[in-house]
Amino acid sequence: MTAPPPSHLFYQTRRRRPMLDQARGVYMWDVDGKRYLDGSSGAMVCNIGHSNPRVLEAMRRQMEKSTFGYRLHFETEAAERLAEKTAALSPPGMEKVFFVSGGSEAVESAIKLARQYALATGEAQRWKVISRYPSYHGSTLGALAVTGYTPMTAPFDAMMRPMPKIPAPRAYLDGLDASDPETGRHYADKLEARILEEGPETVLAFIVEPVGGASTGALVPPAGYMARIREICDRYGVLLIHDEVMSGGGRTGRFFAAEHWNVAPDILAVSKGFAAGYAPLGAMVAHDRIVEAVLDDGGFIHGYTYAGNPLACAAGLAVIEEIETQGLMENATRIGALLKARLAGLMNRFPIIGDVRGEGLLLAFELVSDRAAMTPLPREVKAFDRLVEIAYGHGLIIYSRRTRGGHEGDHFLVCPPMIATDEHVDE
Ligand code: PLP
Repeated sequence: MTAPPPSHLFYQTRRRRPMLDQARGVYMWDVDGKRYLDGSSGAMVCNIGHSNPRVLEAMRRQMEKSTFGYRLHFETEAAERLAEKTAALSPPGMEKVFFVSGGSEAVESAIKLARQYALATGEAQRWKVISRYPSYHGSTLGALAVTGYTPMTAPFDAMMRPMPKIPAPRAYLDGLDASDPETGRHYADKLEARILEEGPETVLAFIVEPVGGASTGALVPPAGYMARIREICDRYGVLLIHDEVMSGGGRTGRFFAAEHWNVAPDILAVSKGFAAGYAPLGAMVAHDRIVEAVLDDGGFIHGYTYAGNPLACAAGLAVIEEIETQGLMENATRIGALLKARLAGLMNRFPIIGDVRGEGLLLAFELVSDRAAMTPLPREVKAFDRLVEIAYGHGLIIYSRRTRGGHEGDHFLVCPPMIATDEHVDE
């Protein structure tokens, strides 16, 4: 690998990666011509694969018309059309769409809309947003306050108002049967207990990833969980926010993952697969009654300069059209089942794999030091980092989450683009 030149850029660490040259379909090439299979779609983003010609053409057409129109000065056809399409894909009544540039902004917007709804409806005492541990909802301070992942939140605790957390329903860790509705009830009822403990009149919202992302490694909720969560929120006037930043956009086989359980939230956040890496884009979608109450009360006090950027919206619309015309959600279901079975097969050979889970092409496997007890890997074990490097060396990109002896789990997300074929699974 050609060593990358010294750089002014920095991200989390000093580690440098190869210089990307180009990407097509499920493959990426570095400047040395080495080919990589994009087994995680970047960070579960590039859902329809790289360099799709129809998306590029739609973006080119939009670029020739305009690349920016400030939302306070102009409406754009691209944003209008994508909003209409997004509302049509969302649960009934969720007709209002607010565009942003990424997942953290979408979650931040959802929390702030919920708060303004409480103010608009005379419930100023509601401000607590309950979430789960572990969970990941974004890096901005508002989204971080509801994130349940100590390694990322601890440095900023002093700057955030602590928000209550309940355990995520990790039945595999607790030795419970996820297909038993009693298990779903057991975990969902922790929300009710927490609402009662906090004082129901102070609780604004509950935020949940319908299928978990990097934090839980593709955690699928146990039977009955999602419906019971909905019931509990309704019982106490608590808004339900679905964070579909990673699970939305078709990867689980449905456009929004919560469709698997036929449950609708009050507000949802989507990003990653929404424009599938062709442009920075996300959206908050909210129920009419919430948006109307806030707008009647003087307006939504929130917004971002790049919101509704026409180029990003044109990309988003073209991505959804590709998903629909190519039947990519159906492919995600079929290829996801195949890939999951193949990963599960590896458990026979490798006792270090403790669990394989996920829905559609949002899949993960977890490494443990003892499968029967689901004991986490010891802090200093080198196998995990070594596996990442071995995969990289062989030209396979997978997404890892290492918690170094913590109980958040050590897992890999295996999430190739939804255009993946049987041959890619073999590879
Ligand atoms: N919410 C979930 C469930 C996510 O997986 C992520 C990113 O991984 C975010 C929010 C934050 O999105 P972004 O990194 O685009 O700000």
